[in-house]
Amino acid sequence: MAELIDGKAISKQIKDELKEQVAALKQQGKEIGMAVIQVGNDPASSVYVGNKKKACEYIGIRSESYELPEETTQEELLTLIDKLNQDDKIHGILVQLPVPKHIDEDTIIKAISPKKDVDGFHPQSVGALTIGQPGFVSCTPAGIIQLLKRSGVEIEGKECVVIGRSNIVGKPMALLLLRENGTVTITHSRTKNLKEVCKRADILVVAIGRPKMIDASYVKEGAVVIDVGIHRNENNKLCGDVDFDSVEPVASKITPVPGGVGPMTIAMLMHNCVEAATMFGE
Ligand code: NAD
Repeated sequence: MAELIDGKAISKQIKDELKEQVAALKQQGKEIGMAVIQVGNDPASSVYVGNKKKACEYIGIRSESYELPEETTQEELLTLIDKLNQDDKIHGILVQLPVPKHIDEDTIIKAISPKKDVDGFHPQSVGALTIGQPGFVSCTPAGIIQLLKRSGVEIEGKECVVIGRSNIVGKPMALLLLRENGTVTITHSRTKNLKEVCKRADILVVAIGRPKMIDASYVKEGAVVIDVGIHRNENNKLCGDVDFDSVEPVASKITPVPGGVGPMTIAMLMHNCVEAATMFGE
């Protein structure tokens, strides 16, 4: 039976540490501000934005909310980002993705100052991660490193297999595991013999976007399994990319869905915002 990696408890631990840090900064007269921009009213995005604002409130970060109509032009959005880039009271800028189709996502990501890029999506942030320089790291993979470290999982020298090569999860995940001295393999939809490659893993990170695809036949006895996927099944219950009931008896540690990777993403966003204020703020 695997030990559960409790993302809810670990994310609370991180948020409480940040809360203390923010209170200490306040005593020195420094207030941290984050701008949260949403264009249009996609219901899923509204839930994410709401949760981010709630986390800011819990930690003591002042959040400024910009809820822009669906028909906002790219120019208007760029003008707002430019204004926030110049604003000393704002340390982090977050544009909730996806943006409506008439707005180019890459242009928006590049417009955010790398000093305020708390999502870690700017090419400069990604480049810094690649060559081992300080910079903001995409929140979900950064959260997974915290889950592993705070659950006592050693990464150095371990066989790490990442399934998925997206820019926000798979690729930065692989780079972070490499930074921790893991021996890293990235797999994807064109990988041959996926099962055999996965079976080598001491640490298996699954970010595919396919409900319950990974069962026990992909997992080595005693492996640590991290499930990034989030899906709703036919009964409206949440599940991941891993078939939990099949894998749990084989793994040594495993993240549940919900309550595993999910809560870590917002905790790391808050961490990045505090870092933005302490590294680059006035
Ligand atoms: P994505 O669709 O951008 O990437 C999926 C990756 O999986 C691709 O690189 C693709 O090559 C690979 N893949 C697809 N089919 C495959 C197959 N049959 N075999 C091997 N590889 C295959 O997805 P993403 O944005 O990286 O997200 C992955 C999952 O994680 C989704 O379920 C998403 O909802 C979830 N997610 C969760 C969080 C969180 O906070 N918990 C954050 C981001 C994403």
